[in-house]
Order: sequence, then structure tokens, then C-alpha cells
Amino acid sequence: VVGAGTAGSACAIEGARRGLSVALFDPVLEPADKPCGEGIMPGGAEALRRLGLGQVVGGGRPFPGIRFLVDGTGPLEVALDRPGVAIPRPALAAAFAEALDATPGIRRVVQPATTSREDGGFRIDARDDGAFRARTLVVADGVLGRAAAWLRGPHAAGNGASHPNGNGAANGKTRLGVRARCEEKGALDRVEVHMGRGCEVYLTPLPGRLVNVAVLFERTPPDVPVLEDLLGWAVDRHPAAAARLGTTTTPPSARPLAREKPRTVAEGGAFLAGDAGGLVDPIVGCGVAIAVVTGVLAARAAAAIVAGRDPAQVSRSYAAAFRRESAARHALATVLRAGDAHPRLARAVAGLVRRMPRFGRALARVAAGR
Ligand SMILES: Cc1cc2nc3c(=O)[nH]c(=O)nc-3n(C[C@H](O)[C@H](O)[C@H](O)COP(=O)(O)OP(=O)(O)OC[C@H]3O[C@@H](n4cnc5c(N)ncnc54)[C@H](O)[C@@H]3O)c2cc1C
Repeated sequence: VVGAGTAGSACAIEGARRGLSVALFDPVLEPADKPCGEGIMPGGAEALRRLGLGQVVGGGRPFPGIRFLVDGTGPLEVALDRPGVAIPRPALAAAFAEALDATPGIRRVVQPATTSREDGGFRIDARDDGAFRARTLVVADGVLGRAAAWLRGPHAAGNGASHPNGNGAANGKTRLGVRARCEEKGALDRVEVHMGRGCEVYLTPLPGRLVNVAVLFERTPPDVPVLEDLLGWAVDRHPAAAARLGTTTTPPSARPLAREKPRTVAEGGAFLAGDAGGLVDPIVGCGVAIAVVTGVLAARAAAAIVAGRDPAQVSRSYAAAFRRESAARHALATVLRAGDAHPRLARAVAGLVRRMPRFGRALARVAAGR
């Protein structure tokens, strides 16, 4: 398994529990923090519990739904059919690290890996630990990963130019996510999404009376090159969001949001999981849920191949399952981003959801996941 983020860790745990001998490669042993909105949709929370990470889910802050705030119309409340949960990334990473340590059959290789195909399987080269050979390969190296370039297709060569301040890709053209944590002012009872005005501001209520503030920029303003100023620029445009935020406790950091659809997510015993399989824009807040679910599915697919099932058939089933997890959410992300760019469209959709609550519930089910 290449990449020990959410998808790779979930995959390694599930694979080892199914009797596979797992090597898990990542140059980072336990990521300290990661820019993320930290709201996990219900399907992701349930998948974490099934993996045995119920304790970290229980320590999170549940949210019953999402409130959209669109210029020129009142707040639109969308209830989830069961609660999502906000978990700070360091807590999630620590829970995964503990579960990995406690699961027999997983070898951690704290090195970056490159991958190639060879007869009967794959070769994985770890920088200082030599070559490994495997019958199956799961690549969960995230949105900027390069492993298994033969699955990814022509995009693999390069994405995500670097930010002038070294915090991600913001060349003014790339979609960018910026995240900070602040003290909570008043009581934030659900996730809030403040839309329009050139960026979306996401507020997620965290444990300990903190708020995660994540800003998604379609294009960063060219006259604001410094990350701290970018966050201030965004919050100034959304005074209702600013009113919820107290002192900053975690300074801003950024991640590029390049979306590159791979040629395929499965072939001949190799699988892409999580963001490596094609980022679903964080505007729907589903990335962690998809990473856990597809990581587990990839482990099951690998186990099926080791047990002698036809790799072509297993690949088709995995690709179909990956699509079920992501296709409708991609579509929802497209609608939300269009609404963000065209407030009249957003107001029309908000009006429709108010008149037809069933439509709103259907959208919420897409985001929530199964
Ligand atoms: C601003 C922002 C806000 C977001 N908000 C939310 C939200 O509210 N809710 C939500 O569910 N999702 C959200 N997301 C998305 C979510 O964070 C991601 O979808 C999720 O973290 C993807 O996990 P992953 O395991 O696929 O990839 P990653 O977490 O990126 O992990 C990839 C791992 O691969 C490793 N790696 C890379 N290359 C190699 C290599 N060659 N060899 C070995 N290891 C390698 C990296 O070190 C890393 O540990 C947000 C994202 C952003 C940027």
C-alpha cells in the first residue's frame, strides 16, 4: 500500500485483518496535521466505526446537518439522515497510527515509494529500504501522488505547481483550499457554508469550542500573495462567517485541489484509493468518507485476487464500487460550484429545495453516503 493517509491506513488495516501480508509505504510516520475541513459525513463515520476506530468517532463533535448561506436569500438548512462528525486531523491520524500498530501483519516502511509492473505482480522501490515484490498494489498517495502512473494516464507527469510561500499550489489559476482553526464565538450548531463573493467559507464546529474554517478559492486573488492575508481576505467577504470566529488557534495552511480523473482506478491487481482515484471537490465535504470506504474496498479487492478470483472481474467490481462512492458526489460538487459562481442559480436551487424538501433530502443523502 503506497500512502498512509486515511485511505492507505484504512486499506492496510482491512487487508491485514483479511490475512494479507501488508507493507505500507509513506515517508511520514504520523502526519501532525493536514489542511482539511474536518467534517466527516455519516457514511465515513460509520466506516471508521466498522474499522474499529469508534473511540475517535465518539470523541468527535457530531453535526446534524449543513446550513448554506447564499447572498440574497435566507439560510438554507439541509438535515442529514444521520449525524456527521467533526474530528480534528491530528486526532484521526493518531487513531489510525494506533490501529496500525495494533494490527498484526502490517510492515511500516517509512520511505517514499515508486512502483512498477513486473511479471505476476508489482515491484515497489523504497528509497533506502530496497525493492519489495507484491501480488497486488493499492496506491493511496493522494491528489498529488505519482505512483502507478500507468493507471493515472497522461496527467501523472505533473500537477500542483508550488505556492510562492511554499504552502501548496496558488498560482492564481489552481483551485486552492486554505484551512485554519479558531475559537468559537457564539454556538455553531452545524456545518455552515458561506457561498459566493469569489470563495466558499466552510465552518465546522470542532470539539473544545473550536471552529475549523476552510476556504475554497476558485482562483486566488492575484494581489494577495501571503497565506494569512488570503484567509483574512475571504473572511472579510463573509461577515456572517467572521462573526462566528474568535482568536486563531491554528494558523492557516493550504492544499491544492487539482482534480485529475485517472484513466482507470483498477487494473491487473493494482487499485487507486481515496483522492488518488480522483479528488471529489471538498465543497461537498466527503473526501475522508470516500478515502475510508474505498481504502477498505481496495483491501477486499486485493484479498479476492490473492484468493484466486479473476483480476479482470475484481477490477470491474472495484471500479463500479468506486463510481458509486464518488460519481453522484462529483455531480453535487459541480452544482455547488456552479451555484457559487452564479448566485442567481444558487438562489434558484435554494428556492427549489425549500419548495421541494424531498429534493433537499435526496441531495443530503448523496453527501451523507451509504
Ligand atoms: C481545504 C480542504 C478541506 C477539506 N475538507 C474536508 C471535509 O470537511 N471533509 C472531508 O471528508 N474531506 C475534506 N477534505 C478532503 C480530505 O482531506 C481528503 O479527501 C482526504 O484527506 C484524502 O485522503 P487520502 O488518504 O486519499 O490522501 P492523503 O491524505 O493526501 O494521503 C496521501 C498520503 O500518501 C503519501 N504519499 C504521497 N506520495 C507518496 C509516495 N511516493 N510514497 C509513499 N507515500 C506517499 C503522503 O505522504 C500522504 O500521507 C478537504 C480537503 C481540503 C484540501
